[in-house]
Amino acid sequence: MIETVLEIENSLLAAVPHTAYRHLLARLEPVTLTFGEVLYEPGETIRHVYFPGASLVSLLTLADGHLALEVGLIGRDGMVGTPLVLGHTVSSVRALVQGTGTAMRMASAHFRDEFRLCLPLQKELYRYIHSLMAQISQTAACNRFHVVETRLARWLLMTHDRVKSDQFRMTHEFLGHMLGVRRVGVTKAAQALQKRKLIRYSRGDITVLDRTGLEAAACECYEVVKDMHDGAQAGHAMRKIRISAAALPLSP
Ligand SMILES: [Zn+2]
Repeated sequence: MIETVLEIENSLLAAVPHTAYRHLLARLEPVTLTFGEVLYEPGETIRHVYFPGASLVSLLTLADGHLALEVGLIGRDGMVGTPLVLGHTVSSVRALVQGTGTAMRMASAHFRDEFRLCLPLQKELYRYIHSLMAQISQTAACNRFHVVETRLARWLLMTHDRVKSDQFRMTHEFLGHMLGVRRVGVTKAAQALQKRKLIRYSRGDITVLDRTGLEAAACECYEVVKDMHDGAQAGHAMRKIRISAAALPLSP
């Protein structure tokens, strides 16, 4: 039998034991999520759940129907579509792809079946939802009490952790949504971090130049959420699995 080594990029899936993961794999479909793609709008039925690999998805809450503010950031550490875990089929937020990259997705009906039967997946998702709630509540406080420059530094660190690359693409407009400020506020904050030689920002391309300096520039919310997340994730490193080629889902 032909075997291939499959890297499981998403840490929730990587934490599920091999046998259970092989079963899930039959219903998982590899996809590429593209910058700017909307996976759900508030009030819409959730048709798929997504386990990001190299991709990054923002959860945005809307005010007055058009003002968007980021409340959560999901990368390889999590899953998009957590309301299904809690028995809800409708999204309350906009899920917007802010980093192009790989993900695995599963149709909601299949996910509900798998979630009910797969205890390791249940355990991982309950743990993850707890840390996502911590991230969302800390973000609410952060948006209210901390200045834009420290919030931008925090957001860049959160992104850096998830994409595992020093370079990523981000427009002023997107950053404005992430931070809930106008473009001019984003420009001033980015210029301040650039002046301190912590980042380079050019035409939407961000390069992290000094990770330690950026940590010092960020508000404490970054550490608070990371400590809680890391504590919950202890021991869940990315792993590889040997799997027969026949069990692999088809590429999109
Ligand atoms: Zn903060």
